[in-house]
Amino acid sequence: MASGTASTWTSDHPTVAEVLASGKPSYSFEFWAPKTPKGERNLWNALRRVEAVAPSFVSVTYGAGGSTRDGTVRATQAIAENTTLVPVAHLTAVEHSVAELRHMIGQYADGGVRNILAVRGDPPGDPLGDWVAREDGLTYAAELVRLIKESGNFCVGVAAFPEMHPRSEDWDSDVRYFVDKCRAGADYAITQMFFDPASYLRLRDRLSAVGCETPVIPEVMPVTSVRQLERLSRLSTAVFPETVKERMLAAKDDPAAVRSLGIEFATEFCARLLAEGVPGLHFITLNNSTATLEIHENLGLPHHRP
Ligand code: FAD
Repeated sequence: MASGTASTWTSDHPTVAEVLASGKPSYSFEFWAPKTPKGERNLWNALRRVEAVAPSFVSVTYGAGGSTRDGTVRATQAIAENTTLVPVAHLTAVEHSVAELRHMIGQYADGGVRNILAVRGDPPGDPLGDWVAREDGLTYAAELVRLIKESGNFCVGVAAFPEMHPRSEDWDSDVRYFVDKCRAGADYAITQMFFDPASYLRLRDRLSAVGCETPVIPEVMPVTSVRQLERLSRLSTAVFPETVKERMLAAKDDPAAVRSLGIEFATEFCARLLAEGVPGLHFITLNNSTATLEIHENLGLPHHRP
C-alpha cells in the first residue's frame, strides 16, 4: 500500500470517530512498541491474533523520555501498511519542541496513520515530578490536540481519569481541563485503567452535568497474576477490589486458578460497563493478547470489520 496518499486517508482506515458514530460499542487493544527483535516477534504474534477478531482499532503507546518513540512511528506505520487493523498512534509532548511534534505528526500522516491519541505525558524519571515546560514546547494536552488538528485531517483522542488525574487539585478543575481538551477538538477519550465501574459512571455524570458529550471509552486492564497485582499496587493509583485480590492471593500457588479469577473479574467488569452503555472497551494487552481475547470471547463480542 502506498503510504501517505489521499486514498490511504479516506478509504482503507476509518477514524475512531467514524467507528463510534456507528452507535455500536468499539472494541480495541493497546500495545507498546517493542525494543528488541524478540519483543517485535511477540508484538506481531499478538497483533495477528487480534486481527482475527477484527477489532475497531489498535493503539500503540508513545514511550516516555524517548524510549520507544521511533518504535511507535515504525509500528503504527507497519500496522497501517501490512494489516487490516486501524492503528491509533499515541503522541506526547514530553521533551519535544513544537517543531519536533509537527515532524512526528507529519511522519504519522506519511505512514497512513490518521488517528492520534494526544496525551501530555509525564516528566521523565519521576512521573509525579514537576513538569518543566520547554520554551519551544507545550505544557498541556489541550495544546497538543490543537496542534494536531491544525496539522491535518486527524481524528484525535485524549485521556480521561475516572479516579481524577493525580495532579488535579479537585474534581472541578479536573473536569474543566478535560472539557478544554474537548473544546480544542478531541473527538473521543480513553480512560486510565480503573476497576470499579462506579468510578466511570461518576465521571460520566460529572461530564454530562457540564454539557460535555465527548464519548469516553473505558480502558480495561486484565489482572491475571499475583505479580501483576503487586506491580499494580506499587505503580498505580487505581484501586483493585479487595475481595477479588484476597481470592487471587489465596490461590497464589496455582497460577491457572489466579488467572481464571482475574479473567472472571475482568469479564464481569466489562459486562457491567457494556450494560451501562459505554461507547466501547479498550483492552490493555501488555503485548500478549491471550487474556484479552479470552475476555472478548466470554463477552460474545462481535467481530467488527470484515
Ligand atoms: P493534561 O490533560 O495536560 O492534564 C495534566 C494535568 O494538568 C491534569 O491534572 C489536568 O487537570 C491539568 N491541567 C490541564 N490543563 C491545565 C491548565 N490549562 N492549567 C492548569 N492545569 C491544567 N503517557 C505516555 O508517556 N505515553 C503514552 O502513550 C500514554 N498513553 C496514555 C493513554 C491513556 C488512555 C491514558 C489515560 C494515559 C496515557 N499516558 C501516556 C499517561 C499520560 O501521559 C499521563 O497520565 C499524564 O500525566 C496526563 O496526560 P493528559 O494528556 O491527561 O494531560
